[in-house]
Amino acid sequence: MSATEPAAVAETPDLYGAYPRLSEGQIERLAERGERRATEAGEVLFREGDEGYDFHAIVAGRVAVVQGQGPDERLIAVHGPGRFLGEVSLLTGQPSFLTAIVREAGEVLVVPVDELRDLVARDSALGDLILRAFLMRRSILIGLGAGIRIVGSRYSRDARRLREFAARNRIPHRWIDVEKDPEAEALLRELGIAPEETPVVVWRGEQVLRNPAGEELARVLGLPASHSDDAICDLVVVGSGPAGLAAAVYGASEGLATVALDAVAMGGQAGTSSRIENYLGFPSGISGGELAERAVIQAEKFGARLSVPSEASGFEQRDGHFAVRLDGDGNRLVEGRAVLMTTGVHYLRLPVERLDEFEAESVYYAATEAEALMCAGDPVAVVGGGNSAGQAALFLSRHVPVVRLLAREDDLTRCMSRYLIDQVENAPRIEVMLNTEVRELVGDDGVLEQIVVEDNRDSERRTIPAKAVFVFIGAEPHTGWLGGRLELDERGFILTGAAMPGCRLLETSLPGVFAAGDVRSGSIKRVASAVGEGSMAVRLVHEYLADRHSWQQPGQT
Ligand SMILES: Cc1cc2nc3c(=O)[nH]c(=O)nc-3n(C[C@H](O)[C@H](O)[C@H](O)COP(=O)(O)OP(=O)(O)OC[C@H]3O[C@@H](n4cnc5c(N)ncnc54)[C@H](O)[C@@H]3O)c2cc1C
Repeated sequence: MSATEPAAVAETPDLYGAYPRLSEGQIERLAERGERRATEAGEVLFREGDEGYDFHAIVAGRVAVVQGQGPDERLIAVHGPGRFLGEVSLLTGQPSFLTAIVREAGEVLVVPVDELRDLVARDSALGDLILRAFLMRRSILIGLGAGIRIVGSRYSRDARRLREFAARNRIPHRWIDVEKDPEAEALLRELGIAPEETPVVVWRGEQVLRNPAGEELARVLGLPASHSDDAICDLVVVGSGPAGLAAAVYGASEGLATVALDAVAMGGQAGTSSRIENYLGFPSGISGGELAERAVIQAEKFGARLSVPSEASGFEQRDGHFAVRLDGDGNRLVEGRAVLMTTGVHYLRLPVERLDEFEAESVYYAATEAEALMCAGDPVAVVGGGNSAGQAALFLSRHVPVVRLLAREDDLTRCMSRYLIDQVENAPRIEVMLNTEVRELVGDDGVLEQIVVEDNRDSERRTIPAKAVFVFIGAEPHTGWLGGRLELDERGFILTGAAMPGCRLLETSLPGVFAAGDVRSGSIKRVASAVGEGSMAVRLVHEYLADRHSWQQPGQT
């Protein structure tokens, strides 16, 4: 449906708090920070691709929010008096993914984004209403496949890299497979691109990025970029999962000049979790993506500088401070008086032949909306007996007809929390197969059809149908890049505190370098403990800096 059709004038009902109405009092408070102005039918308030667009509240009339233009125009929502426009991009500095067009003349209240930030920081009820709506709208956009289009072959590793980059960074996107999507051929013809020149990313319907590197895509889409500031900051946080983001929030809010880097996306492993149910304060659970988005907004509010994609490839000591070298990006250095390593872990690959062949299309290491969309309607297998496997199975069972949970243990209680076991066992679409190990992947042209599994008690093999396999079989730490500069345990995790005589808790073998979260030897692999350690580390950084530079930390008497 187009925004210009008459039916578009009807207001879109509120969906899960995505489209709430402001009270009169809230509109008055916003009016003190902005300007009211009349609108005309057909007027564009902001366009797809606009950077730094203003916050608009509708006082009178109706506004349609659309994606694309001309024949490709797609109506997303229509808003009337009391509603407001925008989504997460407005607060994070990304360009708008949508265009807002006045459908019925009226009046809007326009508030510059800096004024909005200041107001919501002071008015928590208003801040909460707007933030919840923005986060929900981002989820809706992701679900609708609005935003950028990624066009490529399902067999291309680069296409998969781009899809993963978009998914991990919660960039709304639509995947168009040149192998099977009926619209792919016409789209490529229109753009003047041969299939062998894919993958491409299409932005605003016209800008084509040919197989862009993560940095290029991040720049175009306004992700927090690396800064060209040469100043030495107080704290460099390497890795921005829950531990790193917590350190960024606490560091910046306690007056430390803090830079937080991530190689892939803010949020780390937690960002790949469809629902975290045991994090304090979220009784109905929270998606990892939303937790990460909230933390990013909070860290930026306090002035932390975030940078993605920024992969640390080495670090060294220089004249009493540290220099972290970034991969690519002209081997740029980020310098700090203290460094916190929060690089977490990455998931192990299945030890089976032909894995490489199927990895681009049918093997996944995360289960979020993006992966669920890829295999909706097909049977899938989840490998692993821990909480991440259990969560993935539960989430996928809402999208696919059957999920087989393959665990090599003889009992799920060995590695999975009781609350999850109960849910898994009661889910009608999940079949749990214990004592089961994957032996072979079967299919053609990189598309998985079946997997051969073996019962580890009697070695009996059977073949089960599976269009995709989700792997959660353990993890190893991201410490290879440290080049032996820090002491590690026998499994490669960073040793700290009690394990290192004379060190502060969470301090590594190198004074001034700290470690927190999953990458730390002996840590509890949970979101809450990573967040706790990330925040504790900031306190220890203060102590280290105070000892070293006789520097008085703010607020301490
Ligand atoms: C699917 C899934 C579901 C989960 N569910 C739950 C749950 O419900 N409850 C719970 O408590 N826990 C859960 N966990 C575990 C939890 O997510 C982790 O314990 C937590 O994320 C650890 O946080 P972290 O910050 O230490 O590390 P990570 O989350 O691993 O983050 C590390 C970050 O560092 C980055 N990085 C790595 N190397 C570099 C480098 N060289 N340069 C720059 N950046 C780098 C990575 O890209 C990553 O973003 C789940 C994990 C998964 C995978």
